Amino acid sequence: MVKFFKILSQNPFQTKKIAKILAKEILGGGLTKKVYPVGSRRDSCGALVLGLVGDLGGGKTTFLQGFAKGLGIKEKILSPSFVIIKKYKLESRKLKVESRKKFKKTTFHIPHSTFYHIDCYRIKKPKEILDLGFKEIVSNPKNIVAVEWADRIKKILPKKILILKFDFINRNQREIEILNYV
Ligand code: ADP
Ligand code: MG
Repeated sequence: MVKFFKILSQNPFQTKKIAKILAKEILGGGLTKKVYPVGSRRDSCGALVLGLVGDLGGGKTTFLQGFAKGLGIKEKILSPSFVIIKKYKLESRKLKVESRKKFKKTTFHIPHSTFYHIDCYRIKKPKEILDLGFKEIVSNPKNIVAVEWADRIKKILPKKILILKFDFINRNQREIEILNYV
């Protein structure tokens, strides 16, 4: 396990902003290169999976709202209390990316076509997630999959994933740690 970085978010807006940056980094391929080292074929790695862990109110859903926005999803991401898996389509579009000192608009050909938001808060056994087609979802390299309460389905998670840990510091501060499992 390689430690990536730790960041202290001062408010929900900052948490969303951090998430948005991560999403753009993923779309631009920068992070993918770090998660899947040079030489390994991205296609053989399956979906890009984010596992979100941390207490209730830690900011996992808030983070994913910013993340989805960064992926270009217009719908608002909600805490799926009763729906365990929610699917969103991704489309190629113009994104602002940093190019040297200026911000330039570039059309990205998004290598991913679908974003899945999975919330394991209410599940009792990993099998419940397997029964919803989890294996197919995580084996498709076109998918980006974010799993809240990922520690509850540890047994069935792919090995190469990004773990995001949310620690409650006080009313407005959250420590977000991003760990890279390779
Ligand atoms: P989780 O999905 O981890 O249970 P939520 O994102 O649903 O957490 O809830 C986080 C709550 O904490 C929200 O009410 C949000 O407004 C609040 N909050 C306060 N400060 C922060 C912060 N820095 N980052 C994220 N959420 C924060
Ligand atoms: Mg949540």
